[in-house]
Amino acid sequence: MGDGTQPTNPIRAKLATELLVNQLGDQVTVVDPNNTDEFMVGLDRLYLGAVHDKEYVQQTIDGTNPVWIGNKPRVGEAAFAMFRGTMRATDAIIDGHAKVAFNPQGAKHHARENFGAGFCAFNDMVYAAKAFQAAGLKPLYLDWDIHAGDGVYHMLKGSTVPTISIHVGATYPHDPELNVSLDERAELHDPTIDKYNFNLRRYDGDDAFIEAIDKTAKIIDEYRPDVILLAAGADGHTGDSNLGLLANYTAKGFEYAANMVASKALEYSQGRVLIGGAGGYQPLKETPETWALVVSTIYNQIKKGA
Ligand SMILES: [Zn+2]
Repeated sequence: MGDGTQPTNPIRAKLATELLVNQLGDQVTVVDPNNTDEFMVGLDRLYLGAVHDKEYVQQTIDGTNPVWIGNKPRVGEAAFAMFRGTMRATDAIIDGHAKVAFNPQGAKHHARENFGAGFCAFNDMVYAAKAFQAAGLKPLYLDWDIHAGDGVYHMLKGSTVPTISIHVGATYPHDPELNVSLDERAELHDPTIDKYNFNLRRYDGDDAFIEAIDKTAKIIDEYRPDVILLAAGADGHTGDSNLGLLANYTAKGFEYAANMVASKALEYSQGRVLIGGAGGYQPLKETPETWALVVSTIYNQIKKGA
């Protein structure tokens, strides 16, 4: 597991956290979601059950989910810890302890109400959106992982939370509501349900990404959110990828995108941004570096502008 070959390998989170602590020093508070008492775990489980089917939650955490039993019975325990990371981050923003909060193992954007998909068991961003709404805030969800944020899209479809996904259309999950499934640029937007989907081509690179980010800025202007939820997938980064799906983005594109988020958060959200790492399959270098770049850019811009 520690060699970086497993898709959600914790080494990515560890390295990204170290980079951020190096860059931002004592401005960073590191919270370990595993470091919590029985009472909190019980409470967390209750909230998890409010987002997902209760039987699915029970089986997944207990290691009796028939999908994972046998070879990966403990996957649910790890997934629960990842979910709790986003719960802590959400609480910190609602309580006012933090403006910018980052869970490198968060934004499990493919998970659905009663099943997991694409390395995602529990949909922490859907939880966060609902928790912010319950706190009286108006969230907006933006996802620039190379794969479409289909779980978030479907689970929030009946809500008023706008979701925006910028992805390579020809890749997983091949969902006709979000993906064109061909190598072409396309926009599958439906403003009547507050859902927006930008399809890029494979190998498109920074220019197409930046164009979609500019269009996203205009969508954010329409909604004026109180908090921005960001699935900051690093799997679009150019270079060798163990999934072999290249969007060809570079640090320039990611930095541009991060600056856009920071400026909109300053304009509408009092700087409130919740960031989840989502996908990233270059665990020893590009993924943690990209996450650290995005998070530190957003944090620094917000600190400067506040
Ligand atoms: Zn991805």
